[in-house]
Order: sequence, then structure tokens, then C-alpha cells
Amino acid sequence: MSETPGIINRYNEDEARKFSGDLAQLLYVSRLLGQDENLVLSGGGNTSVKVIEPDLYGEPEERLYVKGSGGDLATIGESGFTPMRLLPTGRLAELAQLDDTEMLNALVSHKVRADAPTPSVEAVLHAAIPGKFVLHTHADAPVTISNTSKGAALIREIYGERALIVPYVMPGFKLARKVIDLWRTEASGPTDIMVLMNHGLFTWGETAKEAYDLMIEAVRLAEEYLRAHNAFEWPLTNTDPLVDRVIPQAALRKKISEAAGAPMLLTYYPSGKGFGLAQHDNVADLATRGLLTPDHVIRTKRIPMVGRDVDAYVEHYKQYFNEQAKRDGRDLQMIDPAPRIVIDPELGMLSAGRTMQEAELSGKIAVHTMTAIMRAEQLDRWQPLPAADIFDVEYWDLEQAKLKRQAPYKPFAGEVAVVTGAASGIGQACVERLLELGAAVVGFDVDLAVYSDRFVDRPDYVGIHCDITDADLLRESLRYAVWVFGGIDMVVLNAGVFPPSTPVAELSLDAWRRTMNVNLDANVTLLKESYPLLKLAPRGGRVAVVGSKNVPAPGPGAAAYSASKAALNQLARVTALEWGKDGIRINSVHPNQVFDTGLWNDDLIAQRAANYGLSVDDYKRSNVLNTEVTSRDVADAVCELLGTRFSKTTGAQIPVDGGNERVI
Ligand code: ZN
Repeated sequence: MSETPGIINRYNEDEARKFSGDLAQLLYVSRLLGQDENLVLSGGGNTSVKVIEPDLYGEPEERLYVKGSGGDLATIGESGFTPMRLLPTGRLAELAQLDDTEMLNALVSHKVRADAPTPSVEAVLHAAIPGKFVLHTHADAPVTISNTSKGAALIREIYGERALIVPYVMPGFKLARKVIDLWRTEASGPTDIMVLMNHGLFTWGETAKEAYDLMIEAVRLAEEYLRAHNAFEWPLTNTDPLVDRVIPQAALRKKISEAAGAPMLLTYYPSGKGFGLAQHDNVADLATRGLLTPDHVIRTKRIPMVGRDVDAYVEHYKQYFNEQAKRDGRDLQMIDPAPRIVIDPELGMLSAGRTMQEAELSGKIAVHTMTAIMRAEQLDRWQPLPAADIFDVEYWDLEQAKLKRQAPYKPFAGEVAVVTGAASGIGQACVERLLELGAAVVGFDVDLAVYSDRFVDRPDYVGIHCDITDADLLRESLRYAVWVFGGIDMVVLNAGVFPPSTPVAELSLDAWRRTMNVNLDANVTLLKESYPLLKLAPRGGRVAVVGSKNVPAPGPGAAAYSASKAALNQLARVTALEWGKDGIRINSVHPNQVFDTGLWNDDLIAQRAANYGLSVDDYKRSNVLNTEVTSRDVADAVCELLGTRFSKTTGAQIPVDGGNERVI
């Protein structure tokens, strides 16, 4: 087993010099913190700097630049920090009591720039801490140690009198208030680290470097303590039982989506730790004691689902909600009771989300939590905050407001589409449109361009280099798609070949068979292989077939192409008849003369135009509507057929050809 690397100090003098001014220095160290997932996970942690700037009248004003709520430290820009009037912001902590909503209102009114983001709820605390640069992280190692039965004593042992130890209170006003009180009574000369139990660390300094170095030092000390007590390394073996996970994973996704009331992606999280913990004798107890830090609750729920009994999980969540809501006394609306993390002895760890970003973030948090659990158990005993404290954050007005501020989900959010021939033309346009509409997309193509650069950083797109006429490869590719996204809701049968024009009398049977192979046979295999998955689509499976005008109106010289597309058309109609009982819809579009596809090039278009005695422009518009048809037009029609507006339509054929006299 290789040794787990410890925290590293990423500060680089040459780099740092490129960031001139206090805010830029803060930006630099904030990004350094954000790069290290052992310090903060996306959206967690916050940082600030206190500066003096001239106000509108040229008078010097003390200001606090503090991270905006929900921003990501790893990628933060200067506009991600909210400038605030320092004095009224810090003074809020002098109030004996302040409702969090009132606090937020006051914070927003102390912004210096109206369009700056809503400041972090920890802004009051940042203002109150007497350091120029203030950094706050949820660093794994010290927070893990604080989540043990002897937490406070161990933290004291590690940091001695350097640390101000703050027992857990809700973030926001209560925390700021508590820190100020403790500071007055307990902070001593050497205090340069603040440990918030079950939550995180604060460090500060006169320079950004000083504050950053202290943060790294504090984490290093906690890691060394864990190492010295044989509690740093992952102690379990991680064996992947290599089960055939396709149907179990898709079935589980359906159940989870039903519990959530909307389609969810369910991704297999490639961390052996999931298997390791899932096979631990005591997994049901260990994994469900609670969270590393309460703000994770918004992403992972309080506890993962151990095993696959979604109904029991939902029941348990409802019970937890009812008990806690009664204690709370407010009139609360229960959020969806579906699990976000699954720990299953056979399937390992899976994470669910309405988008891939959500699912990946939940999964990441869960891996850090598992690490914390096993470290805490080796050191002492994993003892995170009780359910009541977690509930308070889960149903905290400010956290709920954060969720409400999120843009609404897109129409295909949580759904998965497979597109064949995805690397160019109509297939590529379908990929783009489906992504715009919020679907996760798996693109198949024999062309390597299927690994498109444009999608390289997108977690919601997977390109698979795949010859769809190879049935084994196709099956393997679908398996991979389910592994990554959890199932298949939509299939776009698009890949096709258009052989050179040949009269029937001169047809080679080989060329004929090749056309049939791609345009027809491969689609039979894809339909067959997708069927069990489409049946498990939360909102019902859908198939869109890219046919051709040649189906209703064939042309001379295109026997193989026309026959293959006509056979595909019949295949789609029969399939629509057979699969209606499973709620699966199959509809076709029949495009014509879509010139921005791989079937055409400028020379060919010019040659054809000349054949008809037309200019290229007139030739492109030679249809009833006198309009040019693009790949995007076809993709729009395909996505409409896949969407809810056509939820009562199956077996339909829609021309996308600008109107063709022979078809009409
Ligand atoms: Zn925090």
C-alpha cells in the first residue's frame, strides 16, 4: 500500500509576485486553498482581507473584501469577493441577538458595490477577527480529529495554547457571537489558530503568505498527529467484486429518481474506498453516524444509503424530518427524501444528482467523509455531530435560500441520451442541443473527433470511439455509459452512410451489405441492447430515428441508402408498436438536403447544383419553403420529439426538409 501524501505548501514566491495589491494577494492564496481538496471542497471555505480605500468623497474607508456566498475558491476572481464597509459589518457581532435572515439583510446593505455577490455568512466573523488576511477552511485532518469522542482534548494536545478552540455552534451570527465571547475570555498571546469543532479552521496574518503558511502548518500538525497514531492511512482493502452492474445500477437509479420526484443521474464513483467501507463488518453503523462538517448535508444528505432499499431510506428520512421539524417548531417543507450517496457491498459507492456536477461533488464529499470515518476510528471513535445539529443546517433559512438561488434545472436534467454518429453533422448538433437542454450525453462514433475538445471539461459528456456494427463493442460501450451516468433514457439513431450513387443494375452486393450493416443492422443491435435500460428510464424511454426523405421519396442511384432507411423506418414503427406497453416512444425525422453534414462537401454541392442548372444558393433552398435546412434544425426537431411536448406521440414520422413536393 502506498503512503498517502500529506498536505503541501503551494505558495510560490515568483507566482505570488504577479499578484500585486492586497486583494490580488488574497485571490492568490484563496486559489491555492481551493486547489487542495483536503482543505476545501467546491463551494466550501471562505477568505477575506481588510483594506483602506477612498469612498465616493475621497475619504478613506475601512473595507472588508470577503468571499461571496457559494463561490468556489479554486476558480475565484476578484469579482467573487464582496467589498463591505468594515465597521458596521464587524459591529453586528456586538448585538446580543440577531436573526440570520436579518443578519444577511444587514450584510447585503453594508456592501459597497450593489452588484457584488451576497457575502459569505461568515462575513461578521471575518470582520471581527483581528488579522488583515483571514482564511477559513474545512480541512480534513483537524476536523476529523474534532469529530472523535475525545475531540477537544486531542485538538488541545496537538496545538497547545496556540489554538482557540470553539465548541460547535451553527455558522452565521451565533458562531460570530460565540467566537467574540471566547476571544475576550480565552485568547492568549500565542493564539494564532482557531479550531471550530466539527467544522473547520481559521488562520490570519498581516500578509496573505503568513495566513496561508499558518493554515498549512495547522493542517500538517494534525496530519502528523494522525500518522503518529497510525490513523492516517486507509486501513481497508478495496476489492472490486466486478459484478455486472448495468441493470442493478439502472434499476436503483429509477428507484432513487422516483423518491426524488425527478430524474437523477447515478454515477459509479471510482474510489476503491467505497468498496472497502461497504464490505466493513460495521458499515451500517459507521457510515450512518453523521457528517464530517454540517454544510455537507446540502450535498450528501445526513447519511448515505447502505444497501439498495430506497423505500426504507425514504421512510427513515421522513421520520428524521418529522422528529426534527417538531423540535424545530417552524413550519417547514420537507425536501426530497432521496439518498445522494449509496454504499452497497456489491456496487461500491454511487452518488446521485440532478446534474453530473452535483453527483460528482456529492461523491467527492463522501470519499472525504469515508477517509475521516476510518481515521477517526483508528485514532479513537468516530463521533460526528448529532442529527439535530445537522438538521439545523439542512433546514437553515440561509442554506435553503442558497438552493433557491440556483438556476432552475433544464428540461432534460438528470436524463441520459445516447447519440450515434456523434462526431459530426446532425449527430453533433444533437449532442450540442441535448447538452443545452440539460441531458448527460454519450456520443458514439467511428471518428476520433467524438472526443471533441469542446466537451473536454464537461462531466456530462462522454465520447466513445466505437464502430456500432461491432455488437460486442456496442454492448461494452452501453455498459460504460451506465457506469458513468446510471442508465439510458434517450437514444438517437443517427449514424449512417450514404454510398456513392450506383444504378441497381450495377450494385455490388458488398457495398449493399455494408450500407445495410451500418444503417440498419447496427440499429437493431442498439435497440435490442438499449431496451432493458429504456424500460428503466424514470420518465419513460424515448428513441429518435434520423431517417431520410428517401423513405417516402427515394431517388435514382440511391437504392442501398433508400432501402436501408426504409427498412429502418419499418423497424422503428414495429418497435413503437411493441414497446408502447413499456412507455417507450419511438419517432422519426426525415431530413433532406442537410448540407452541413459529412455526407456533403462544397464540390459535391456545386456539382449537384450544376446538374439542376441552379446556383449553389438556389440549390440549397430548392424546397417548398425556399429555405436552407441545417443540422441544427434537425437536432431541434429530434429534441422536441424526445421532450415532453410529444409525450403522447409514438410511431410518428416528421419531415425536416423545407417541404418536398414529392413527400407532401
Ligand atoms: Zn465554514
